[in-house]
Parts: sequence; structure tokens; C-alpha cells
Amino acid sequence: MERLVRSCYRQGGYVFAKKAGSRTHGAGDDRVARLASNENPEGPSPAAVKAAQEAVPSANRYPDERVDVLVSALRAHYGDYTFVAGVGMDGVIETLMRTLVDPGETVAVSTPTFSFYGLAAQAQGAKVVSVPRRADFSVDTDTLVTAGKDAKIVVLCTPNNPTGNATRVADVKKVLDGINGLLFLDNAYVEFSGIDYLPLLKKYDNLVIGRTFSKVHSLAGLRIGYAFVPAWLSPYYARAGTPFTVNAVSAAAAAAALSDKDHAARYIAQVQVWRKRYAAEMKYPVLPSDANFVMVDVAPHTGDDIVEKLAVKGVLVRSCRSFTGLGDHYIRVSIGEDWENERVVGELNAL
Ligand code: PMP
Repeated sequence: MERLVRSCYRQGGYVFAKKAGSRTHGAGDDRVARLASNENPEGPSPAAVKAAQEAVPSANRYPDERVDVLVSALRAHYGDYTFVAGVGMDGVIETLMRTLVDPGETVAVSTPTFSFYGLAAQAQGAKVVSVPRRADFSVDTDTLVTAGKDAKIVVLCTPNNPTGNATRVADVKKVLDGINGLLFLDNAYVEFSGIDYLPLLKKYDNLVIGRTFSKVHSLAGLRIGYAFVPAWLSPYYARAGTPFTVNAVSAAAAAAALSDKDHAARYIAQVQVWRKRYAAEMKYPVLPSDANFVMVDVAPHTGDDIVEKLAVKGVLVRSCRSFTGLGDHYIRVSIGEDWENERVVGELNAL
């Protein structure tokens, strides 16, 4: 019966990071260092947990389709912008593609990068054009503008997953000035960069900035993301999305998480310390990072080989082989708790 499945789903799909499991058994320590998915190692803010618990007893009711609790909290935190929300930033990306992209239209993606943009675009029947970064993984804005000039959406991830580097605001401006469609700027890791792209929203009405509660805010398991959008887009986004997309528990938790600035600040400080320590202490070249992870060049080994060897030692990191346009000799290592980071440095250097 597989003949019934759409051709875009017959092969490929999202490649998940390895989970803790049989491969880590025998590590000699029950604890597994989970450094494969760029999560905040500290649990959610107690304020977020409390808000989530308080929302559960009302779960017999459908949630507020406008997600007012979250939108109000976002406005209080960031100012008077227009927001949309989704089931993770993945959900925001999927709904955005559904809102804007007709079959046969082009979505241009600056690569190597997060794979889901291309998958979500393909699901709409889009033609996906990969626009390679330079050898140092910086964005060649001229190339991106040329390839993306008439694309419906141009996608740029900054700081970029998996390379870790951010794109300067001036370069993002060049892209916005040069294209006719919309720029989706993925800011999943922006809180770790110190860069502020928000002023661009005042000038450009073809800019969407995607954000997530999965990283700095420790809510990956509640699947909640949002975006700053131009005002014209939000009613159409609402039409394209599934009704009641964002559940009430996640929305309440996310709103409360925003208010716990110390919780976020603690992890940002940890990230700043460990980006430097990883670069100084790992024996392989560590690429400069503005995110809560680093990409490491493990040549002459392959990323897959190193991932397997570290898993046996109780350390989970991500191979970058599945990222289009990247060689097979990179791994991506998140910044976790001290013991996790110390262990990955020790085990990697010992291989
Ligand atoms: N964008 C980037 C660059 C990511 O790395 C991720 C998560 N790995 C996402 C978006 C999706 O985040 P979420 O958990 O909010 O769906």
C-alpha cells in the first residue's frame, strides 16, 4: 500500500540525534552526558512548572486560539510586535510554509543548516534551492541574494545550526534589501549570541524572526515556538494553521518561563564559559560559536565514527553527516552541565 504515500515522504525525513540507550550501556557510570540536541541541561524554571501544573485541570476545555497568555507575555518582554506561535519553531516553520508557498515556488536555504526548512518546503511541493555558505561558513550575501531574489521564502539561520556562527545584522540587511520574497530568520540560538536583530522588524515588512522555548528556556519537551511577524501576515498564518495548534499547558509554561530571567541568564553564562573552554581544551579544531553548541572538526575521523565511540563511553554528541553540504568529519557538541562538558572533552581527547 506504500504506493499511496506521497513521493516526498518515500525517502529521507528528519534525522534525529541519537538517544541514550543500548549503545551507552557499559559506560561504567549510570549518567549519560546528553550533548546531542542543544538543550538547556537545567530543568524548566520552577515558575514554568507551576504555571503548567495550574493549567492542567482546565484541560477539558479547548485552549485559547489566540494564545493570549503567551502573546501578552511576549509583548511585555519584547515590546509591541506582532507574534504568532506554534508547536515548536518546527511548527511555526511548517505553518509559515503552508501560508506562503504554492507548489512549484522556490524556497532558497542558506546551507549547511537545520534540515527541517527543506523538508517543510518540499511538503508544500516547493522547489528547494540550497545556497552554500563560504568555506568558513559565513554567508556570501551576494550569492544568497542572486539565488533567492525571486524565491517566495529565503531561509537564513543565525546563529547557524550546526556551524554555530552568527551572521552580522548588516549582512541580513543586505539580504532583505536584495530579495523580493520573505526572509525567514531562524533565531533559535540568538539568546546566546548577544546580537539583536529585532530593530530590523521596524523597517522591513518581509521579515519573520523565528524563536523557540526549547533552548534557553528549557521547554523542549513542551514543544512551543513563536515568531515575530509583520502585521499583514498574522491573519493568514492563523488560517493556514491547524485550529487550536498551541496547547494551554505549553502556552502557560512558556509565558511564565519568560519572566524567569535568572534561569535563562544562568545558562547563558555557562555557555559563555564553555565555548571558550571547549575551544581551548579540545584537541580537535573547534569552530567559533555564537550558540550553545560548537562544531568540531574531527578529521581524519568521521563524525559517525566519533559519535559511536563516544556513545560507548556514555557521551552523546551529534554527527553532522546528515547536514547537506557539510563533509563527514564534523560533530556538534552541546554545552551542558560542567560534568558533561568535562567528560566530552576528556573522552574526545582520549580517542
Ligand atoms: N531551528 C533550529 C536552528 C533548531 O536547531 C531547532 C531545534 N533543533 C529548531 C529550529 C526547532 O526548534 P523547536 O524545538 O522549537 O521545534
